[in-house]
Formats: sequence, structure tokens, C-alpha cells
Amino acid sequence: MTLDPRPPVHWSTRAACQDADPALFFPLTWDDRLAPRNDQARRICRGCPVQRACLDWALRTGEPDGIWGGTTPAERRLLRARQYQATA
Ligand code: SF4
Repeated sequence: MTLDPRPPVHWSTRAACQDADPALFFPLTWDDRLAPRNDQARRICRGCPVQRACLDWALRTGEPDGIWGGTTPAERRLLRARQYQATA
């Protein structure tokens, strides 16, 4: 058996948002009037090759802010609540 000498590649190195404006993903407020900016971030997420890994990470770590895996904090709270109910 040969060990692979390369370090493991973290999913974030393939993120489609690497060169995007961080303010799209981490707005100063979640005011509904900023929904178009959230939509811009979600569009980037929809084309991201690591969307599933990103969302899994955000759910697992309880990420409280920002757009992750195409979801808002409120949407992730709902997903976590549903996960909790499914396992309770
Ligand atoms: S899913 Fe969205 S937030 Fe996550 S890495 Fe991809 S582009 Fe960035």
C-alpha cells in the first residue's frame, strides 16, 4: 500500500464564493429589504460544486450567521429543528 503524500483538500478550497463580495454572504443586517443581495449569494451557491458539504458543515457546527450552502440563518435553524425532531 502506498500512502498519498498530498494533504487532504478541504471542500472550501473549491468554493464558488472565494472571489465574491463577502458582504453578499455576511450582510450587516438580515432586513428583508436586502433580499436581492441574499438572492445574489444564493445564485452563486446554486452553481457551487461544494454546496452540499458547505451546508452540512454549517448545520453541524451551528453556524449562526451568513449564507452557507445557499441557506440563510433562519432556514438553517428550521433545518436543524427538523433534524432534531427526526431523531428525537
Ligand atoms: S455553497 Fe455558497 S457559501 Fe458555500 S462554499 Fe459554495 S458558494 Fe460559498
